[in-house]
Amino acid sequence: MNIEHLGVHDSISAVFPPERLVDALASVDPNVSIVRDGEYDDIDAVVTFAHDDAYFGQVEWVHCARAGYDDFPVERFEETGTILTNSSGIHGASVGETAVGMMLSLARCLHVARDAQNRGEWSRPEWDRPFTLFDQRVTVVGLGTLGQGIARRADGLGMRVSGVRRTPARPPHVREVYTPVDLHDAIADAKFVALTTPLTEETAHMFGAEEFDVMRDDAYLVNVARGGVVDQDALVDALESGDIAGAGLDVFEEEPLPESSPLWEMDDVVVTPHVGAADRNYYQDIAALVRQNVLHASADEEFVNRVA
Ligand code: NDP
Repeated sequence: MNIEHLGVHDSISAVFPPERLVDALASVDPNVSIVRDGEYDDIDAVVTFAHDDAYFGQVEWVHCARAGYDDFPVERFEETGTILTNSSGIHGASVGETAVGMMLSLARCLHVARDAQNRGEWSRPEWDRPFTLFDQRVTVVGLGTLGQGIARRADGLGMRVSGVRRTPARPPHVREVYTPVDLHDAIADAKFVALTTPLTEETAHMFGAEEFDVMRDDAYLVNVARGGVVDQDALVDALESGDIAGAGLDVFEEEPLPESSPLWEMDDVVVTPHVGAADRNYYQDIAALVRQNVLHASADEEFVNRVA
């Protein structure tokens, strides 16, 4: 396949200025330009943050600038023979730090201090509220790029890391690996449960009332995967009833999180606006992936990160 004209969709502006990616790709394709919905004349491939039905029949290859491609209709790509690649593999450090940062905040009460600072108050948390991450057990559900990024950092802080994945291979920094059928065993004794699976038919609402009941009352949920992996109403109930102690949440069933959500007001819930992977160098990582696949395409080699 010969990529002569590469388009950078303006939806990329959700994560960085599209011009940055155009500049970073100039050495690969002198014809790279910014495109908008429906504007794919002469475009062979498009790098995008959001799906647009109009590129079917127009472009040969779509690169999704996210790891999660649950908003992209994979079947339609397969039917139309359009190649779809994703950006898995680049978020281990950013999301790993976000997730462990949430755990640190929840343990060390940094969010409590910041809330007090916003009120101009000098106040200490209850004496028995802060704890250390050292020697706490964390179960990471999903042991791919994100999960391993968390495991490595959590292990570095002296946490005891367990994980859940479909295949039994045990990655570095993880002491025990469970399969999804043993999810309840994996989470029952964890102080933190971190979610890092893709949103699929199997993982949709994987965490609901039953799982929150199984979790320790003093446990925290960290969700940096997708909002739909959690039954959010059940999560709110579990937080309100004390079935779990708190949560760090980067993703939600509805984004932006509606103003009416009780999650905004909960003291031991840290809400971040789906920025777990935000990084000033993100455009360079995307450029490197795209560059690699342009080379593969011209050599008729298999695309890296191909999902359809
Ligand atoms: P990977 O494909 O590298 O890893 C996914 C992991 O999930 C694999 O270990 C896989 O298991 C595991 N998994 C899949 N299905 C199940 C299941 N039913 N039960 C348990 N484990 C399962 O993906 P990434 O780590 O790159 O990304 C994961 C997801 O995180 C993305 O799909 C995206 O939705 C989200 N994400 C969120 C970001 C944010 O900004 N908050 C940023 C980037 C990603 P196995 O290894 O056995 O195949």
